[in-house]
Amino acid sequence: MQDHTYRPTGTFDPKGVGLGLALAVAAMFPISFVYAYAVRYIPFVYVNFLISFGAVFAVAGAYVFGESLGRNRSRAASLVAMLLAGVLTLFVFWVTFLFVISRHELEYLKMLTDPSYVIDLVKELVKVGWFTLKRNQVKGTFYGLLLAVEAVAYLGIFVFAWWTFLKERVFCEKCQKWVERERVAMFFDLAPLEAIATALAAGSDVWVDHLRLAGTTPSLQIELASCAGCAELHVVNLIHTQDVVDKDGNPSTEEKVLLANILIHGATAARFRQRVDQLRAEFAAQG
Ligand SMILES: [Zn+2]
Repeated sequence: MQDHTYRPTGTFDPKGVGLGLALAVAAMFPISFVYAYAVRYIPFVYVNFLISFGAVFAVAGAYVFGESLGRNRSRAASLVAMLLAGVLTLFVFWVTFLFVISRHELEYLKMLTDPSYVIDLVKELVKVGWFTLKRNQVKGTFYGLLLAVEAVAYLGIFVFAWWTFLKERVFCEKCQKWVERERVAMFFDLAPLEAIATALAAGSDVWVDHLRLAGTTPSLQIELASCAGCAELHVVNLIHTQDVVDKDGNPSTEEKVLLANILIHGATAARFRQRVDQLRAEFAAQG
């Protein structure tokens, strides 16, 4: 049987990784100052953690944006570069934080160029602590542990950003550009799923005829990445989506990818769009 799956080539391109790292480094300095002053003047420890995670996420976003400007299809290289950006972010955040809480008495450039000096300073800070939690000065092993957890969380944020924004990207080799996946804003009936999946996997386009609007949750959603440049590359994802309510009554949506990266022909993509328009018109007519 013919294989109808899109697979990235995995081609490494140093420009993508280089731009990602360059933008991350450019972003981490100003962001580290915003973070350090916010943490210095906002007396709520938990708010401080949220601020630091948001700041790290912003640096990871700068990396993602930078890499998108290049053509690096190697997911492994992308992950390694993101982890490197994560370690650099952790270091620069520490340097700026020490600079700010020392009221600019510690030399910024000396710290930036001497990691072992920074590690010694952090060890000193862990001994004495600098903030209180429930009226106790947080210091020693507990503070050290908090900092270790925070460091792991920083790297985790970079891995999360890689997983979410870079790992599953579609690249058109013919046009040499990235193609966005677009989620069709429509919930499809899940009942004919087997017929849809079988036809899709076999490279037939009859699955389009099985698409109907869903009345209830769970339902089926479709993501389509279509290259506008050549109109030859079309990649489909089938997603199972379900509205759930947790024990505290908070609603959320659970999603699971049922079929990923199925290649379809341009004619099939056009038929699919027609079907979506038709269903939308039918829905509008029902009022
Ligand atoms: Zn193309």
